[in-house]
Amino acid sequence: MGQARALIGRLAPSPTGVLHLGNARSFLLAWLSIRSRGGRLLLRIEDIDGPRVRSGAIESSIEDLQWLGLDWDGEIQLQSSQRDRHDQVLADLIGAGLAYPCVCTRKEVEEAASAPHESSVGDVPVYPGTCRGRWSSEQQAREETGRDSAIRLAVSEPAVPFEDLFVGHCSGIIDGDFVIRKRDGTPAYQLAVVVDDADSRVTEVLRADDLLPSTPRQLLLYRHLGAVAPDFAHVPLVVGPDQRRLAKRHGDTSLARYRRQGVAPQQIIGALASSLGWVADGTPCRPQDLLDRFDLSSIPREPMTWDDDGCLQLED
Ligand code: GLU
Repeated sequence: MGQARALIGRLAPSPTGVLHLGNARSFLLAWLSIRSRGGRLLLRIEDIDGPRVRSGAIESSIEDLQWLGLDWDGEIQLQSSQRDRHDQVLADLIGAGLAYPCVCTRKEVEEAASAPHESSVGDVPVYPGTCRGRWSSEQQAREETGRDSAIRLAVSEPAVPFEDLFVGHCSGIIDGDFVIRKRDGTPAYQLAVVVDDADSRVTEVLRADDLLPSTPRQLLLYRHLGAVAPDFAHVPLVVGPDQRRLAKRHGDTSLARYRRQGVAPQQIIGALASSLGWVADGTPCRPQDLLDRFDLSSIPREPMTWDDDGCLQLED
């Protein structure tokens, strides 16, 4: 029998913008899942994507979480502080022949992708493997093409099936060799998230289901790192009245805006809890009031539709 691992979860906001209601719902669920079982919850700010990090967004994300009443254990971790560790893992993967330099531009990848084929990870075209085995080193790639290279993982298996705690069985298709370090030298999200979760011994990742297609990629990286993968639970997104993912087009649904407007955090948590079927509409509550009601399997399978009037009954 394997040894039971201490339950560890994490909140991992990217400070590329302000936190909005969609983030709040997944963070509330991640918090409840861990806190309802007495586990440890970490806060990691995923600030690796330097150019996209917005000034002030780290501080405002932290304030928003505190305002909502979501706490965490230990020091706040900044992903950017792990850069040397990410670079070391990248070097190890290249050294082991599991990853390789790629000089292809996005346009070239699009042109080379034989048949138009919608990738399972957003609208990124499927990479046909043009640079796999082409260069012996980044230096050689640069000398011959005059270009900097990205690093891709050589995907050895077309699928890594897994059981999602919420979604159930997932076939785990991986669409081609994917980028683990960008051309500008920054570790890609897929690599950084795995290295950091593995190093922090995270045992449960609960997040929104827009990241579901990334999970088989991440599981493959766990294998290469020889690390135990966490359990994954992917919960439905929040969408606007038009059923599209909540975004700017739906107006300002940032937590900062509600705060400014004088909305109480208990109203937001209450609206989210009623979308989960755990309290009656319009019941204000705090995250800790929901600890006894949390039940992953009771979360509705469909996305939550948010509209200010219906969900918050705001007075003008
Ligand atoms: N930082 C990522 C995001 O905000 C989440 C990463 C994750 O939960 O795996 O989209």
